[in-house]
Amino acid sequence: MSRKINFGAGPATLPLPVLEQIQEDFVDYKGMGLSIVEMSHRSKTYDEIHHEAMALVSELLGLPDNYKVLFLQGGATLQFATIPMNLLQGKKSCDFTITGRWASKAYDDAVKLGKVNVLYDGKENGYTELPDPRTLKVSPGTEYLHITSNETIGGIQWHGWPDTGDVPIVADMSSDIMSRRFPVEKFGLIYAGAQKNLGPAGATLVIIRDDLLEKCDESLPAYLNFKIQANKDSLYNTPAVFAVYAIKLVLEWMKDEGGVEEFEQRAERRSGALYGVIDAYPEFYRSPVAKKDRSKMNVVFRLPTEDLEKKFLAEAEAKGMIGLKGHRSVGGCRASLYNSMPVEGALNLAEFMKEFVEKNG
Ligand SMILES: *Cc1c(COP(=O)(O)O)cnc(C)c1O
Repeated sequence: MSRKINFGAGPATLPLPVLEQIQEDFVDYKGMGLSIVEMSHRSKTYDEIHHEAMALVSELLGLPDNYKVLFLQGGATLQFATIPMNLLQGKKSCDFTITGRWASKAYDDAVKLGKVNVLYDGKENGYTELPDPRTLKVSPGTEYLHITSNETIGGIQWHGWPDTGDVPIVADMSSDIMSRRFPVEKFGLIYAGAQKNLGPAGATLVIIRDDLLEKCDESLPAYLNFKIQANKDSLYNTPAVFAVYAIKLVLEWMKDEGGVEEFEQRAERRSGALYGVIDAYPEFYRSPVAKKDRSKMNVVFRLPTEDLEKKFLAEAEAKGMIGLKGHRSVGGCRASLYNSMPVEGALNLAEFMKEFVEKNG
């Protein structure tokens, strides 16, 4: 078997030992005579997996006791709506930073469900730069400040956090959760679709602080109500059992490998190798984003012409490196380097990028 080196943005590569474990467990889970996707979500077996996965999230992120971990469905996209529904209730206000494609989508839903003050809009610079976090001042009466910690399409990532005083930050961490340490206490709510850094598609991680849970709108329909979900430990209805099980395996693997600190270093090494090549050949490769805001998860780059980009993608693919095409809205190339991407995968790509300039530059 030869596995591709998969730089796709999501659903993304998973650790080989996790895939092998799933294969081993799949048909006959631990000798029970049935698979994990065929048993009751109320069974002791599933219940243990579910709670273990939640406990691993808390452990790896060092969450204090007043944060609750939820596994919901509907992707990060449903959270664009569910969060304002719970916390704005049609009348309260929040602050937003519009930093790219994903923040824009979150904003579009939030304005339908409450009042939104825009503290920053990167439209003029084509979403290639983030605001200086020190310059952001939250608005009076705001419930929270929403940020997108890593813009997966644009390739920019927050490397410092705004000082919001008592106002909680709500962050979409879909594409960089567990890839670095961060001061949890600044955040009231963190959410992430699983399919980039955590596991397969189907589950969405939501981490919410107690005081925000208390503020949730009681009149919301049950599934959308964070408080009901929290009181039921995300077992109000059938959870995404397979996704939660696979997330548990990924998190166990991460813990064995050294935890978030280790993955922070890997992210640095992977992205450092690629930015190193981009900076070494400024006549050939170009990073369209502000240097200070470069993402360590999604490295976006351009070649001198679109024809060379096509050739680059084709030759990379012939070498087993796939998923390097930039998002259809921006073009160019993008290497997604999530937690499960081996450092060697990025080093291979860096090597290929050098060879490619030498032949075509
Ligand atoms: C992929 C992505 C989303 C969308 O996630 P879904 O789970 O498909 O809804 C939202 N935000 C960010 C930052 C993403 O990278």
